[in-house]
Amino acid sequence: EQSVGLVLSEPYFNASDLPWNHLRLWSLLNEIPPNVLTNDVILMPNKAVIKAIPIEFDDLWKINADVGCDVEGFDLSAYDQLIRSAKAMSDPSIESHPLWEYAGKAMADKPLELFCLRVAMNAKQVVLVTGGTGLVGKAIESVVNSSGDEFKMYSFVFIGSKDADLSDLAQTRALFRRIGPNYVIHLAALVGGLFHNINNNLQFLRTNLAINDNVLLMSHEMNVKKCISCLSTCIFPDKTSYPIDESMIHLGPPHDSNFGYSYAKRMIDVLNKAYANEYSNAGDRTHKTLFTSIIPTNVFGSYDNFNVNHSHVIPGLIAKAYKAVTEAKEKGAKSAKLVVFGSGEPKRQFIYSIDLAKLIVWVLKSYEEIEPIILSVGEEDEISIKEAAQLVSNAFTDNDMTLELEFDNNYSDGQFKKTANNAKLRKYLPHFEFTPIDVGIKETVEWFRQNYSIVRI
Ligand code: NDP
Repeated sequence: EQSVGLVLSEPYFNASDLPWNHLRLWSLLNEIPPNVLTNDVILMPNKAVIKAIPIEFDDLWKINADVGCDVEGFDLSAYDQLIRSAKAMSDPSIESHPLWEYAGKAMADKPLELFCLRVAMNAKQVVLVTGGTGLVGKAIESVVNSSGDEFKMYSFVFIGSKDADLSDLAQTRALFRRIGPNYVIHLAALVGGLFHNINNNLQFLRTNLAINDNVLLMSHEMNVKKCISCLSTCIFPDKTSYPIDESMIHLGPPHDSNFGYSYAKRMIDVLNKAYANEYSNAGDRTHKTLFTSIIPTNVFGSYDNFNVNHSHVIPGLIAKAYKAVTEAKEKGAKSAKLVVFGSGEPKRQFIYSIDLAKLIVWVLKSYEEIEPIILSVGEEDEISIKEAAQLVSNAFTDNDMTLELEFDNNYSDGQFKKTANNAKLRKYLPHFEFTPIDVGIKETVEWFRQNYSIVRI
């Protein structure tokens, strides 16, 4: 079922002389499960054009055969009424003949094209990216735009909260109907750093539950082929063994600091499985979305949220470093202090947004499991917050400026570590090359400096 490469249909009359038999391929395609008709499948013929030519009959009254009002869904009652009224007036000895057996005169030089039915695959596959204006969404846009012809079969639509509030079902439904996606990459979420989460767990829970339920329901309703939702390594159980892997998401309560966000994200995995259960057993082959999820570790890159109160670790450090350096330069000083919240001891795996984007488009094209997949650098690439802060400091250091680290222990450290195992990803992509973290941080700092006027701060 998954290895179909070519769907071929005979384009000639196969049952009678009636024109709608030409549309047989089009109707049969609806019986093929949507996930089988991938972009690689070739369909022949690939379009059906319905043409017509007006004809004038001299002896219409002789056409004694009506066709029956409803023919394969086409309403021909007007034609039948005409024939029946002609019949009433005609000589009863005239033998009935169908329309096309009478001589007639074409009233146009060539047939008119009434409409063209594109048979699926020729049209571009529409990929809706929710959260398309954020850190990860912008990285996907950049990867797609710089990949030449690789994505020419797809048309990506990146949307943000101004396009629709996805926590509202009516707005979500209107958006999906307007865009008509074939695929959904669902990134939209109320996200925030440790301190924002601690103070707003109820809001994180309710808003994210609503967004996720609405997006998944609409993906189902619109018969989307694949819906990829974004989980996070910070939703895993607080008390667990390390490294964590994809099978451990539900094995215990999450850390208290972000339980709202975590439980809402975990429910995506539950929904994915519930949709699969409901629709793979129902035998409804035309209505089966592949719902799956990805689990990134800490992401950083351009277009991040650099607001010190709401941001994640690296963007927060970059914003603070920029401020400290700018203020020091204004005073003519050659050194500044970068204050790091907490002890700097906790460890994290950071993934550059561009690397994550490349992996997400791979998931779009090639990953067919319902079970989530961790998208992360390896365990050996885990670094402490202190090391991350040092890399940020290095990116701001030059001949005129040095940036010293200072640790503020009044701030909580959060979970000490969340080491994630990327063995499943490596099984699929053993040779994927991650950007070295110092390079990723340098590029992000460079982007931050050049785009300071539009940065979320
Ligand atoms: P951002 O904060 O950069 O972007 C969030 C996106 O969600 C924005 O496009 C925002 O739109 C949109 N959004 C928020 N609320 C709504 C809403 N009610 N309706 C419609 N759109 C909404 O997030 P990231 O790019 O960092 O995160 C993307 C995904 O990755 C999220 O699901 C997140 O949980 C996950 N993730 C992120 C990690 C990280 O370190 N950043 C780590 C692991 C997972 P707008 O800007 O227009 O308001």
